[in-house]
Amino acid sequence: MADGPAFSGSPLDRVSHKRTDPAWLERQLADEKTRFLPVWRLEPMVKLPAAQALAWAKWVLFEDLDPPPEPVLLGVADGVAHFAVDVSALEKPEVELGVSDVACFAELRAIASSMPPGDAGIAAHARSLVDWQQRNRHCPACGGRTRQVFGGSQRNCIDCSAEHFPRTSPVVISAVVRGDRCLLGRSRGWPARMYSALAGYLEPGETIEEAVRREVVEESGIVVGDVRYLASQPWPFPSSLMIGCIAAAETESVVVDPVELEDARWFDRNVIRAALDGAAGELVVPPSFSIAHYLLRSWVDSP
Ligand SMILES: [Zn+2]
Repeated sequence: MADGPAFSGSPLDRVSHKRTDPAWLERQLADEKTRFLPVWRLEPMVKLPAAQALAWAKWVLFEDLDPPPEPVLLGVADGVAHFAVDVSALEKPEVELGVSDVACFAELRAIASSMPPGDAGIAAHARSLVDWQQRNRHCPACGGRTRQVFGGSQRNCIDCSAEHFPRTSPVVISAVVRGDRCLLGRSRGWPARMYSALAGYLEPGETIEEAVRREVVEESGIVVGDVRYLASQPWPFPSSLMIGCIAAAETESVVVDPVELEDARWFDRNVIRAALDGAAGELVVPPSFSIAHYLLRSWVDSP
């Protein structure tokens, strides 16, 4: 597959060498070509009626807001700077911004599969960066107030000068395979017949391979040998990086951890292929924008 998973491939240049220059940032904010993406309670603004493509605005849209919002820089495309603007303080954002006829705010997970690919990547960046600003108004080191610097790519503590950077939480997710079968699991509360690749957070002091082996044996009792990295995906809910692997099982007997999973079992390649193609059958797999779908498709299509 040539294209990466959803939420990757933002077309914006992050200009990390320019955003540290306050004068450059000021010029971009004052430039009438500059585009601003309103984000309300982590939902991006999208154009009506389709509610798929991002709806960019000029700064005039925010001029009457009190207190004035603090834009965060997403990047530059074709010489035009693009910022995200957190408007979460508004109660009825479409009405208060005067955009009800042309735009709305949409939950990213709900629209991800229908967004233009570049827009999904930009929205993922905006969602994670705005969320990080909201959660880091105080310094983790001393509790003092922090201030945004370098277009929001960093926050510094006003009291102790500590520098803070946006954090990403790595998650390993693996298609555990043995011959023509793949191990999938399901959690409680999932839609009927839905199974997915096993996943879990990487812990401190752990390699990707060690995390895959630990998660799989903890959740399913299956011992994994070789682990091969395949692809990664930003997962902006709020700020994870999904690290997709193909893991070779060395054992076959499944012992489900009932705390982690409701069920885990082996599925034949043909059953998974049919589920990926949308056939109604014994198995439902995660949607096409998820890396689980991408992993399973890659394995099914591999020689
Ligand atoms: Zn501090």
